[in-house]
Amino acid sequence: MDIAGFFILGRIVKMEKETFNPFMVVQEQLDECAKIVKLDENIHSILRRPMMEIHVSLPVKMDDGSMKIFQGFRVQYNNALGPTKGGIRFHPDETIDTVRALAAWMTWKCALLNLPLGGGKGGIICNPKTMSPGELERLSRVYIDRIWKYIGPEEDIPAPDVYTTPQIMAWMMDEYSKIAQKNQFGVVTGKPLILGGSPGRDDATARGGLYALKEASDELGLDLSRSTVAIQGYGNAGYHAASLARSMFGCKIIAVSDSRSAVYNKEGLVPEGVLQHKLKTSSVRGFPGTKEITNEDLLELNADILVPAALENVITARNAKNIKAKILVELANGPTTPEADAILFSKGVHVLPDFLCNAGGVTVSYFEMAQNFAMYYWDREEVNKRLAWKMAEAYHSVLHNSKKYRINMRQAAYVVAVSRVGEAMKLRGWV
Ligand code: NAD
Repeated sequence: MDIAGFFILGRIVKMEKETFNPFMVVQEQLDECAKIVKLDENIHSILRRPMMEIHVSLPVKMDDGSMKIFQGFRVQYNNALGPTKGGIRFHPDETIDTVRALAAWMTWKCALLNLPLGGGKGGIICNPKTMSPGELERLSRVYIDRIWKYIGPEEDIPAPDVYTTPQIMAWMMDEYSKIAQKNQFGVVTGKPLILGGSPGRDDATARGGLYALKEASDELGLDLSRSTVAIQGYGNAGYHAASLARSMFGCKIIAVSDSRSAVYNKEGLVPEGVLQHKLKTSSVRGFPGTKEITNEDLLELNADILVPAALENVITARNAKNIKAKILVELANGPTTPEADAILFSKGVHVLPDFLCNAGGVTVSYFEMAQNFAMYYWDREEVNKRLAWKMAEAYHSVLHNSKKYRINMRQAAYVVAVSRVGEAMKLRGWV
């Protein structure tokens, strides 16, 4: 590389470091959208910050008799369209800015899917991998004891996210119900089926992304039954994406990965076999008949469809030019930096942006709320049918705006979502 190239790359890397804070990325994306739609200045200013933040300290008696104080957050970003909704993460690297960013993305996601909900998110700084079930239960209950005044089926409805499970949702629902002195199943979603969970919530995120992929492949004239797929991350989103892409469309899954390794077989993998192997050995590494590659290699494979389903900021200005996929299915939140977005757009990669692509999860959570309110439960087929309809509608509204304004799919998703939230704020007389 010549000296000039070195400095340009250095600048890009520096810019990306500066934009790594996910909340700054959110604000940058919103500012860009405000220019495109000539957003009212007051609406813009309000939408740049969360409506309300709750910071709590959470004392928990540990199994060894000691007391540990954890830090937790709940951010309610905007409720113009309805009660706020969003998951709770248990993660050692949780920060208030990550929670703010995820709460903003939830606001846009609910608006884009035309759900009568605003956006929120919660988080607790902890390492659940090192905690016993009893410690996790006490932590979950004290979190609800601290925030119960601000949540509820008609105020703010938490859900599972990274490292929070249906069991944790059951404890939180139970604690809230005790305080309310009556069963309040609708206070959280993602509950076990027997406690008011919805059929279809388990694979809803991946399934929703694949319904959007079907619309995109029709638009591009891509035959999914002859398409190859590479998937980064093999948890809830990644595994179900692999399994459903193969069973629903006949796609060939040529590579998958987890935090330890990535594996490749150009003849295709059987997703259920890889899952069994991962459950036995804790990793996809060493799955018979595969070649080991790196997570970075996986992103640049010659696959028709690339599915980031793990982390934020994995497609950056460094590797975007090497992406060969025709369609990017963003099941992870925030996998692509703004600089990479511009490169992908210029290369003609069709991006299904995160808050469109992974909206299946909150959509089925909304169905769960509706079933809890009605005390009447649907079957899986009914849930999937309604989800398919919602995803197709959202995809086409984004595509329409992308063509209308000649902007990329993420900018178009912002245009639809922010315009809806802005209209609600105006009609309510907030500005
Ligand atoms: P998960 O915890 O079930 O799985 C995460 C996977 O990512 C695991 O296989 C893990 O090994 C892998 N991973 C972690 N670090 C990695 C690394 N450095 N390189 C490659 N792989 C790595 O989580 P999930 O629920 O599948 O969520 C994945 C992404 O999807 C997150 O960004 C999450 O916010 C997003 N998402 C999930 C849902 C949902 O309903 N599960 C909904 C919306 C968005």
